[in-house]
Amino acid sequence: MATPSRLAIAATARKADVCRGTMPIPLDSRKKPATVKVHVTSGAGVDIIWSDGHTSHYDFAYLRDECPCATCNDERIRKSAFASAGPASATALPMFKPKPRAQAATTVGNYAIQITFTDGHATGIFSYDHLRSICPCTDCAKAFRAAGS
Ligand SMILES: [Zn+2]
Ligand SMILES: [Zn+2]
Repeated sequence: MATPSRLAIAATARKADVCRGTMPIPLDSRKKPATVKVHVTSGAGVDIIWSDGHTSHYDFAYLRDECPCATCNDERIRKSAFASAGPASATALPMFKPKPRAQAATTVGNYAIQITFTDGHATGIFSYDHLRSICPCTDCAKAFRAAGS
């Protein structure tokens, strides 16, 4: 009975192929941080050194603007709708707002950081994936934000 064992070997090899093909996390070294520093006390922002050697610096005010949570997403969509409707409809007065800073920051698993801002907003979870794509430098703007133009 040689046939069943040949079949078993074939099945094992096939399973291994499938495993290689479905890694849980795509290992894009550009979106993997090597070092993450969140300067909560000094208010200096966030510094990340990525696995590909790239360094990113984010002001907390910038991160507050780029907060990926649903509330802020809605707000951004509303704002850009106002902006495209023309300056005449900009009824909102440019109010003075103190620059938000971080009150606290924690890591979420190994994929994100959560920042509590001084304006009380705390639902923003910044995945490293997202952080790399909003890196303020021109190289990353070209690499991650050039789509659609
Ligand atoms: Zn938010
Ligand atoms: Zn960059």
